[in-house]
Amino acid sequence: MTAADAGEKDAATGAAAGSRKVATCDVCPRHCRLAEGATGFCRARACRDGRVVAANYGRLTSIALDPIEKKPIARWKPGSTVVSVGSYGCNLRCPFCQNWQISQAGESDVPWREVTPAELVSLAVGEREREQARGRQMAGIAYTYNEPLVGWEYVRDCGRLAHEAGLANVLVSNGCAGPRVVDALAPLLDAANIDLKSFSPAFYDACAGVTGTLDAVRHTIETLAATPTCHLEVTTLVVPGMNDSATQMRELARWLRSVDPAIVLHVTRFFPRWHLTDRDATPREVVYRLADVAREKLPCVLTGNC
Ligand code: SF4
Repeated sequence: MTAADAGEKDAATGAAAGSRKVATCDVCPRHCRLAEGATGFCRARACRDGRVVAANYGRLTSIALDPIEKKPIARWKPGSTVVSVGSYGCNLRCPFCQNWQISQAGESDVPWREVTPAELVSLAVGEREREQARGRQMAGIAYTYNEPLVGWEYVRDCGRLAHEAGLANVLVSNGCAGPRVVDALAPLLDAANIDLKSFSPAFYDACAGVTGTLDAVRHTIETLAATPTCHLEVTTLVVPGMNDSATQMRELARWLRSVDPAIVLHVTRFFPRWHLTDRDATPREVVYRLADVAREKLPCVLTGNC
């Protein structure tokens, strides 16, 4: 059985809608209705045999050993490294995407290689031994680069095996998924960084092309914050002219405080990428000023990319 077969076997998320040949995906608020053979908006899921499956299951476009601080995760196992993996696909179309080469790609746009969960965990165990020999701690596996939740079954299957091998699981995600997916993964996660791109529903709806996206992200943050075994941090990328108002940052920080007063917030700097090249990088002083605004509500606010 190939990794893709395994994913298809376990990854069915769509309920047949009228015909067995059309299925609805419930992984994110977009709820794509897919005809047989069609691929979802995220380019990662597809309808096969009347079911929506993770077509990107086990297809890795990137594998790297990264410092945990690069995720960014600042207050969990500092100084450790993580084997970081990503596939292709994303369910958002943020015009400022900083990682668009793989997140906005489909299967034919970017090279990938198939790595089963057992192979990935074996690779990570080997990396842990090499890091130990160098006097460093390798904490586990980070699911990152593209949007991991559009292929969440791979995170689940790798996550179970990783725990059996004594490895931690780290999720770096836009958080835009339905409760079924988040509830299934939460017990497997040891640390996560979830984007909270804005506190404006309209901002999110523009990125997603559907309504309800901010609500889904908020639910993900609330769920992971309430999971005692998962350390949670949040990132807000400040884009000039889009989400750089002090009022909005204050509202965002106030809400995070209501979820968990100890939550770590990263306020990071945008650089012109993908479809948003009509403006300069966020001025550093704007990032610092907005971080100070967030510090009115939260004790741990860090700046990034400055
Ligand atoms: S995960 Fe992909 S296929 Fe499923 S609803 Fe979202 S965009 Fe559509």
